[in-house]
Amino acid sequence: MSESPTTAIDIAAAVRDGRVTAAEVVETHLAAIDAREAELHACNAVLADEARAAAGRGDAARAAGATLGPLAGVPVALKDNMCTRGIPTTCSSKILEGWRPPYDATVVTKLQEAGAIVIAKTNLDEFAMGSSTENSAFGPTKNPHDVTKVPGGSSGGSAVAVAAGFAPISLGSDTGGSIRQPAALCGVVGLKPTYGTVSRYGLIAFASSLDQIGPFGATIADAAATYNVIAGHDPRDSTSYAGAMATIGAAELAGDVSGMRVGIISELVGAEGIADDVKRRFTEAADALSAAGAKVEETSVPACVYGLSAYYLIAPAEASSNLARYDGVRYGLRIEADNITDMYTQTRTAGFGPEVKRRIMLGTYALSAGYYDAYYGKALKVRSLIARDFAAAYEKFDVLLSPTAPTTAFGFGAKTDNPLAMYLSDVCTIPSNLCGDPAISVPFGTGDDGLPVGVQVLAPALGEPALFRAAAALEGSAP
Ligand code: GLN
Repeated sequence: MSESPTTAIDIAAAVRDGRVTAAEVVETHLAAIDAREAELHACNAVLADEARAAAGRGDAARAAGATLGPLAGVPVALKDNMCTRGIPTTCSSKILEGWRPPYDATVVTKLQEAGAIVIAKTNLDEFAMGSSTENSAFGPTKNPHDVTKVPGGSSGGSAVAVAAGFAPISLGSDTGGSIRQPAALCGVVGLKPTYGTVSRYGLIAFASSLDQIGPFGATIADAAATYNVIAGHDPRDSTSYAGAMATIGAAELAGDVSGMRVGIISELVGAEGIADDVKRRFTEAADALSAAGAKVEETSVPACVYGLSAYYLIAPAEASSNLARYDGVRYGLRIEADNITDMYTQTRTAGFGPEVKRRIMLGTYALSAGYYDAYYGKALKVRSLIARDFAAAYEKFDVLLSPTAPTTAFGFGAKTDNPLAMYLSDVCTIPSNLCGDPAISVPFGTGDDGLPVGVQVLAPALGEPALFRAAAALEGSAP
């Protein structure tokens, strides 16, 4: 065997052409996991037996003359909040201990139908609540570029899986930035697609009006190939978009941005806590787009500044409702007690970690009689304002631009005592969740500490083609 392919697209082509077998691809990636997993802890489970069996089936199908899919033989790591039939799905929470879903999430089925091979379930902040993976009940994941630093979160394990070569692609979920922020901190590509374009059937709910599944990849082309496979209407998800969705092809990936109107969101570049080294890289990225022929201008999306405040009412409110189902009766952990009320209380007390409890309390408070209008109701109004301001910006611009995260990867414990400081990690990513629009983080050089910096491209709903065009241009000009 010559040089083994590393990107998803190259692997699939090599498997289809018979230059490499799916079994060989799986062994290469299991070896990469073996080499660094003990140090990085990206995975809640490594599915070696299952992956070898799937590779064997794929190779047998090829030998029998079957047509192979676009992700033939490509290992994929899944955030451990996506249901896998018969395989523990934990949300990195003690409350789901021992639970095995009786069904696969739609994204899992779609990936497998395309030939991809699930190789691992990845670590996350408990129930996807966090920005550093430090809120996992199973211990944090480490950043492969510097193991004294966090990988970001909540999809930290999925970002690390790609950055460390455990799998060429992975899936995460993004409610307020949980794909894009860890992508930025780990130096990989992370996409939050338009709300409704990727089915959430089988994604364990955090905040249902915001949650979206999306891909990580080492390249824009791999993220696009994965998006093409997982996007599409699903009758099993009542919020699934039923209209036409674009497929990303060679035209978008060529990254031609001549004449493209690009707006720099001044409120986000100027947001609290954006570090100088991140700003410098961001400016270089904007200059690179202009050198490539785009018309780049500063613009204002005024209501953006209220995004974080609105999110921390809406997301906990929805979470408090979604997490009511973990009562010791239907899923996972149960602490036995003399009566049912004590059983509920003791199960939830033992099963949920501190951040999850904080969110449930915040959300319950925001929804309670007498406070509902002042908090939840007000946050919904702010949400409408943000959507309106973005819609106005997209009358003048094809895509918008901001940093992805305020800083490069930070140290363990740096923000754990101060939830507000942690929440500020998502100041640039949250607005896209509130308005349902797509956004992508593209690696763009490093900060003063030598750690990766990400630049975010935002587009209007269903604007993935323009988003990928700009992202491909940035990838092509990244230092
Ligand atoms: N960090 C944000 C939070 O803690 C976003 C999480 C996410 O996108 N899942 O809520």
